[in-house]
Amino acid sequence: MSLHDITARIAKAETNAGRLAGSTKLIAVSKVQPNERVEAVLSEGHRCFGENRVQEAAGKWPGFKEQFSGIDLHLIGPLQTNKARQAMELFNTIHSVDRPKLAKTLARLAQDIGQCPDLFIQVNTGEEKQKAGIMPADADAFIAECRELDLPIQGLMAIPPVDEEPSLHFALLAKIAERNGLQGLSMGMSSDFEQAIALGATHVRVGSAIFGERIKPAE
Ligand SMILES: *Cc1c(COP(=O)(O)O)cnc(C)c1O
Repeated sequence: MSLHDITARIAKAETNAGRLAGSTKLIAVSKVQPNERVEAVLSEGHRCFGENRVQEAAGKWPGFKEQFSGIDLHLIGPLQTNKARQAMELFNTIHSVDRPKLAKTLARLAQDIGQCPDLFIQVNTGEEKQKAGIMPADADAFIAECRELDLPIQGLMAIPPVDEEPSLHFALLAKIAERNGLQGLSMGMSSDFEQAIALGATHVRVGSAIFGERIKPAE
């Protein structure tokens, strides 16, 4: 696979779903990939990337930002409150807002810094104990709480359980978003992004299908 193959498959999935061409944003997930692979994708003209750890991103992206303009960086992994300020300064979008304490910290820092990245609320659609995300039953109240805090919530994000049919989880996420009037849907990875697009994904997060298998395991 390559960037070109993936963009072609996204375009086809959009057409099949009767959606506008270009209505899905491709986040190239570059976590733990060697810099040469990331640089190759940047050189092909792609500018939208995802990382799951603040520390790792802070090590690699300031350098790329000096070399390439227009980089659009997305945090897709869990965020600790003590890294929130650094994340807000580094990322254009944060996909992992998942608890009241983090929402309050982001709101306070947004006042302080004078700006806030676009935000997605992560929903634990599979209700998995080890996974981040607000439980589906608590999602409506949490979305309301974030709005009261004036946070720029663009949509919802989910990572389905590995051993379940992802479409059920994509459909659930889309339903929660719709009843809360949210447009953004961050869902779909290398193995299931076409299904996610069929169910309305606005952001797909694709790593290994673009860059190849990750050499080191990601957290
Ligand atoms: C690693 C990761 C991805 C990309 O996974 P692939 O299977 O390599 O496409 C997507 N979303 C999140 C949250 C991730 O951590």
